[in-house]
Amino acid sequence: MFNGEIKDEFNSLIELTDYLRDEMDCIMYLSKKRWGDNTVCPHCGCEKVYSFSDGIRYKCSHCRKQFTVKVGTIFEGSKVSLRKWFIAIYLITSHKKGISSYQLAKDIDVTQKTAWFMLHRIRYALSQADLDIELENDVEIDETYVGGKNKNRHWNKKVKHSQGRSTEDKTPVFGMIERNGKVIAMVVPDVKGKTLKDIIRRMVKDTARIISDEYIGYSGLEKIFRQHVYVQHGAGQYVIGDIYTNTIEGFWSIAKRAIIGIYHCLSPKHLQRYFDEFTFRYNTRKMKEGERVNKMLSLCYVRMTYQNLVYG
Ligand SMILES: [Zn+2]
Repeated sequence: MFNGEIKDEFNSLIELTDYLRDEMDCIMYLSKKRWGDNTVCPHCGCEKVYSFSDGIRYKCSHCRKQFTVKVGTIFEGSKVSLRKWFIAIYLITSHKKGISSYQLAKDIDVTQKTAWFMLHRIRYALSQADLDIELENDVEIDETYVGGKNKNRHWNKKVKHSQGRSTEDKTPVFGMIERNGKVIAMVVPDVKGKTLKDIIRRMVKDTARIISDEYIGYSGLEKIFRQHVYVQHGAGQYVIGDIYTNTIEGFWSIAKRAIIGIYHCLSPKHLQRYFDEFTFRYNTRKMKEGERVNKMLSLCYVRMTYQNLVYG
């Protein structure tokens, strides 16, 4: 059971559930991880708070509001126990290809709808992981499309005239990857040169060397960055020395396999969240599974409501 120590990692699900045996253990663990020994009011930031004898509720001496450790986190307002949440976090961060809401619902005994909502909240927290990263050195860039394949779609979702090269029914995703470093993947409204270049400028240091294919939208990058080199895929050219985009393409294929394998009915609206999940898994690939769970827990102090998930 929980002995007051924050673990650096959990090496298995069993280790996690042995250490955090019941709801109280989980509450204490989260409190310790979030506040250490100095509880802070999540409403106003005041450090003078009183704790109730139940060990769960607190009251702020300044704003007089009551709170629990769940307030101001992705667990706020959820009726699901923290223990189930922790297990869900373990499952989603450790399974290489992710987990479907159907599978999670079975594993932790909640409804599929609840599992779906939990997964989205967790992905939302994951999206907070690398907000301030900037890529440098060798950066491969590429765009891809997700969705489409008219014949697999329900008839009323079919997009007219979408055969051939049209991408009208697909969602474009733009990716940038630093070799031996991190990846950033963003759902974009279009793949026009201006749209993509604005993003690259924002996320990549201008001392970087950009590597892409010959797509016309990338022209002009050599004026912004130290160097821009490309391979001509159209001419069957894939690798010239260290000029290639195989790293970002490898990332796309992992993401696409996961999307096809697990996340079959995927709406474009939620696509970014799935990419946040793949990105988190990729960017923490050198961590052990158990470390990833802790990393995830330290990201959970963001609030998300059903309202802003479904309508926002
Ligand atoms: Zn307060």
